[in-house]
Amino acid sequence: MKVHIGLDDTDSPRGGCTTYLGALLVERLLAMGTEFIDYPNLIRLNPNAPWKTRGNGAVCLRVRCPPEALEKVEEVIFETLEENSDLTCKNTNPGAVIHVGDVPPEVRKFARRAITGLVELEEAIALIRRFGDSALGLKEGRGLIGALAAIGEVLDGDHTYELLAYRTPENRGKRRRVDADSVFRMDDATRPLTFNNVDPQTRRVLITPRGPDPVLLGIRGETPEAVYEAFQMLIVEEPIERWVIYRTNQGTDAHLANVSRIADLRPHYPAIIEGTVLEEPRTIQGGHVILRVGDGSGEVDCAAYEPTGDFRRVVRSLVPGDVVRVYGGVRLRGEGHGVTLNMEKLEVLHLAPKVVYENPLCPRCGRRMESMGRGQGYRCRRCGLRRRDAGKREVVLKREVREGLYLPPPRAQRHLTKPLQRYGRENRGFNGCLIDRWHYP
Ligand SMILES: [Zn+2]
Repeated sequence: MKVHIGLDDTDSPRGGCTTYLGALLVERLLAMGTEFIDYPNLIRLNPNAPWKTRGNGAVCLRVRCPPEALEKVEEVIFETLEENSDLTCKNTNPGAVIHVGDVPPEVRKFARRAITGLVELEEAIALIRRFGDSALGLKEGRGLIGALAAIGEVLDGDHTYELLAYRTPENRGKRRRVDADSVFRMDDATRPLTFNNVDPQTRRVLITPRGPDPVLLGIRGETPEAVYEAFQMLIVEEPIERWVIYRTNQGTDAHLANVSRIADLRPHYPAIIEGTVLEEPRTIQGGHVILRVGDGSGEVDCAAYEPTGDFRRVVRSLVPGDVVRVYGGVRLRGEGHGVTLNMEKLEVLHLAPKVVYENPLCPRCGRRMESMGRGQGYRCRRCGLRRRDAGKREVVLKREVREGLYLPPPRAQRHLTKPLQRYGRENRGFNGCLIDRWHYP
């Protein structure tokens, strides 16, 4: 029988990670004689949800096991969840759901909504009851949402892979010893089959996270072979406890499903809007750039925050009249100031002419004339010529921005954001075959 195991919200800022729990369970489930029918799935949910854990990532393991083994499988899963959850953290509310059989369409729909918007815990519980799933929710049990959503997102459309390697306990919290030069060599050798290994501008290595969690590194790519080969190229100067290849919705824009009218934007929902730039972009304290966009139904401030680096230069170069498509997450701005759209992506659809007005040139000597006052015409300072009928000259400036799609640099991208290099490389479906080496041990 097919068994789908969803897990979520076991991590806390102090350490722990749901993907690590997934990797532990891979070893334990294989030892029990179950057979994996898919790579472990890492499902990123709506990154704008107000209660999200750091990456808002949930995990699903899909295995085949003999009916008589099911009880033991459930026991191992619930035990491992309890042992490895940081229950002392107030905002950690672990959940595990076990579904037997095919994934019902209702659960798939629930997953779509958890990725593109908000869902309630009660909805998850109602679905779990309806399909007779086994479930364990610790503390408030909010993790049941992600656990069920991970089961429901079967990744039959675009998807990517991530090889995640984990540290031994004594090294957690210490500096990660991965040779940076080897990361750059790996990046050169494997791109575009891997992505976001490094940030080209700052030369920062992106495959190693910061913080105390057990993740040593993660390599993202288009195929399981590509991330495995990239991993072999790295020089790692600390022991690796385990690693596993996940199949995931990272880098697919899965959260950005719907174009909204500005009037319909809802806080905490990802959205795509199309509209016209209404004012000169303004730079506010902290270096954030604000773009006011309207679409006839309403107006909204779109924000490019300081960490988005040069992306802000593109935003700053826009002028009123430009037509744009903005991708992002809707944030409450607080104190009743309406909402802000946090820009994840910007498409410049149409550039308006950028016009400036200049005083006319003197027809006699060629010098720029000066105004004699409102409606009084112009005078040349050099030769004294006066022209009452002369008007300002309209000058159309060359635009320094082009129509096209713009993204923040890799270091500022969300897990779900589809990088530029992935356009045209979308993966379709999954053939059910796993490569030989997709996990260790
Ligand atoms: Zn003159």
